Amino acid sequence: MNLDYFINQLIKIVSLNNIILDDQIKIKFEVDWRKNFTGKSLAVLFPVNITQIQDIILLCNQFKVAIVPQGGNTSLCGGATPIENSRLQQIIVNMSKLNKILEINSINRTVTVESGCLLGKLKSVLSEQNLFFPLALGSLDSCQIGGNIATNAGGINVLRYGMMRDLVLGLEVVLPNGKIINVLNELIKHNTYIDIKHLFIGSEGTLGIITKACLKIYSNLKNSQSGMIYLNNFSEAINLLLVLEHYDLTAFEIINSETICLLNKYFSEYSLSTKYEWVIMFNLDVDIEFDYEMLLKKLNTVPNIEIFLSYNEESKNKIWHSRELIPLAEKQEGSIIKHDISLPLDRIEFFIATNKLNILNHFPLSKFIVFGHLGDGNLHYNIKIDNYTKTIAKKINDLVYADVMKLDGSYSAEHGIGMLKKDLFKNFSDQNNFQLCKDIKGLIDPNNIFNRGKIFDD
Ligand SMILES: Cc1cc2nc3c(=O)[nH]c(=O)nc-3n(C[C@H](O)[C@H](O)[C@H](O)COP(=O)(O)OP(=O)(O)OC[C@H]3O[C@@H](n4cnc5c(N)ncnc54)[C@H](O)[C@@H]3O)c2cc1C
Repeated sequence: MNLDYFINQLIKIVSLNNIILDDQIKIKFEVDWRKNFTGKSLAVLFPVNITQIQDIILLCNQFKVAIVPQGGNTSLCGGATPIENSRLQQIIVNMSKLNKILEINSINRTVTVESGCLLGKLKSVLSEQNLFFPLALGSLDSCQIGGNIATNAGGINVLRYGMMRDLVLGLEVVLPNGKIINVLNELIKHNTYIDIKHLFIGSEGTLGIITKACLKIYSNLKNSQSGMIYLNNFSEAINLLLVLEHYDLTAFEIINSETICLLNKYFSEYSLSTKYEWVIMFNLDVDIEFDYEMLLKKLNTVPNIEIFLSYNEESKNKIWHSRELIPLAEKQEGSIIKHDISLPLDRIEFFIATNKLNILNHFPLSKFIVFGHLGDGNLHYNIKIDNYTKTIAKKINDLVYADVMKLDGSYSAEHGIGMLKKDLFKNFSDQNNFQLCKDIKGLIDPNNIFNRGKIFDD
């Protein structure tokens, strides 16, 4: 390939203002958030309209150059960074300049956005109009709506509002052949054969570039009540969930004391108690006549717990901010082998008890950093072993995933596959399901241009 010609064509398409060619500046976009994956790109492009995206795609098809779609680059499984392969020519298409909120419709309860819009920006603009977009992730000030859709993101409000898939009404996508699919539907009901948008939700950048989305929004007029409940016995957490499910429960998170210690170490202003084994953080939507006395009475039917209800917005925000900071505390600590798993609720306690013993048998100095969206059966089940090697990490992963799969759980609850979980996807998938996914990818992207080396080996 004539590299100079190719780069000149890219510059012609987006102009010099919207391309990075300098190796030192590119590096920021070539490394993932956890700094586990890095790969070289020929250029990082920042298209400002859909025609530019089409032209980039057509050019890459002509020269067989791979495209890495990139949002905020907060993927926790290396989905948005180029693969490490010196023979593969790759470019990054970063969506941050296509970031407008196009229409807020408070009657239809919909918002239409360009995919590079930051999640945090969307939430705050809506809240100024007493509207609410439920997706809530610790990465909200960096991640983009397009990335949220491409990963089918989860977060703390899934229990009540579902994952990103449940919040998307319509999409606009540029396909790997440069054609545009416009299914920017705004209707709740639109039942016309296969709902093609679902192919792209969770497709992790392998089937084209999502350029616009129409999303469901909600009224923000309800009050909410958050609280923390400390307890020692995991089964009490499940009992509390059953009590709180009688209310309009939107979030039910669990955190173990080892994780709290980490949080206190790096963010001492929160200083949460480590007297108990576990803490639950929850949020309920409530109305003005809400009976707090009755709530406390019902919660107190669960023995041996200590309850704190948030008494104002500040204390509520403090609870949720401390929850959001856990991944950052983990990042600062380092040496943690991470797992984003889910299990049927009735098997989680058994999993933790048996798997912990299993791991301690092999690695007695392991520490368990366990937290997550318990209401959805989703745990971030992370193990700290100082200076662990690749062999140790592999052994730990094998021990964790074997138990998860034995109990009918999932090795990827919400973060996706990316580069990190390719082998798990191959090994644990139903083989016909795996092949169908591969066939769909081959049909939509016959030149294998999009996010090559992610999800599948090639
Ligand atoms: C502190 C922290 C907390 C987090 N908490 C959660 C959590 O609670 N729940 C959760 O689910 N995730 C969580 N994440 C993971 C991450 O934030 C989400 O996966 C998020 O949805 C990724 O958005 P992004 O814009 O950063 O996408 P990127 O990381 O840039 O990309 C992710 C994937 O989407 C593709 N992609 C991006 N934009 C587009 C587009 N426009 N069209 C097509 N493909 C595209 C990429 O190629 C890649 O495969 C967290 C991450 C961090 C750092």
